Amino acid sequence: VGAGPGLEVDRLGKRYGELRALDGMSFLVRPGELFGFVGGNGAGKTTTMRIVLGVLAADSGQVRWDGAPLDFAGRRRIGYMPEERGLYPKMKVGEQLTYLARLHGFGPKAARREVEQWLERLGVAERRDDEVQKLSLGNQQRVQLAAALVYRPMLLVLDEPFSGLDPVAVDVLSEVLREQCARGVPVLFSSHQLDLVERLCDRVGIVRQGRMVACGTVSELQRAGSARLVVDAPS
Ligand code: ATP
Repeated sequence: VGAGPGLEVDRLGKRYGELRALDGMSFLVRPGELFGFVGGNGAGKTTTMRIVLGVLAADSGQVRWDGAPLDFAGRRRIGYMPEERGLYPKMKVGEQLTYLARLHGFGPKAARREVEQWLERLGVAERRDDEVQKLSLGNQQRVQLAAALVYRPMLLVLDEPFSGLDPVAVDVLSEVLREQCARGVPVLFSSHQLDLVERLCDRVGIVRQGRMVACGTVSELQRAGSARLVVDAPS
């Protein structure tokens, strides 16, 4: 983790045909900060995250990491949990995670150690030899989270990571995110669960029509009268 400013999203613009999905989206997630991204359906959260990841190109604007444009090598070091999820259904849990860690340069032993540690931590160690498709949705989600963490990312970008989780898993995920922040990793996540966002986040960004309409700590937003904006988002 660098000492620089962390993740900078600078005036992103993106159109899908006639539809303007992003219109000057800008914000900062500093090292060690837990940043919650809220806003109604179609506000532009997923599009922003996919551009940060580099799976989608912006029409304009820039994404920077520690002051420099985020390049391919940097993007590979992002832990990403896509909204549509992205595990191989027929691969075994342990194999899949080990494969990911190996892809990111971990040796065989270190990869297995990381995988075991995350499977234990997330409560799915007994599932390591099961095919992903055989798992409950909640457990698939835990494995998806392990997949974002297993190669020690420099930045976490999580699209609706809490959706569909049982209360125990919500607590574990909250704890894991706080720990990652404590290690200096910036975390950007979107959520419709506003109570969670308020409880967890250092700062919250409210997205509407492809731009950030308010950004700050929960108490700053409340003082500025933006509480209603937060409440406007679907829960
Ligand atoms: P949600 O909470 O529903 O995921 P979101 O804030 O993540 O919403 P986006 O998924 O970024 O919003 O969508 C922003 C806008 O772009 C929406 O109007 C959406 O319909 C549109 N959009 C997203 N992806 C595409 C695409 N591939 N082609 C056309 N339009 C798209």
